[in-house]
Amino acid sequence: MGRCARINNLDIYHKKMDGDNVQENAVVLCKKCYEKSRYNKDSVSSPPPFSLLTKIYAKILAEYRCECRSEKGCH
Ligand SMILES: [Zn+2]
Ligand SMILES: [Zn+2]
Repeated sequence: MGRCARINNLDIYHKKMDGDNVQENAVVLCKKCYEKSRYNKDSVSSPPPFSLLTKIYAKILAEYRCECRSEKGCH
């Protein structure tokens, strides 16, 4: 199974839009994958933003790579 290898334009997004601004709700995605992802679809309301520390921690856990694991390979 492939994983997106992009390391540029990474940002932290919310897995659940109605979730909290905690590490468990954070996912690291590159801009391209974010635009294709389901996370982009139900953004009716903006969740509370992540703290800088949570963002840094999420990136470390993701090894500074996009966390997209699209079954069909990368976009
Ligand atoms: Zn990606
Ligand atoms: Zn992807």
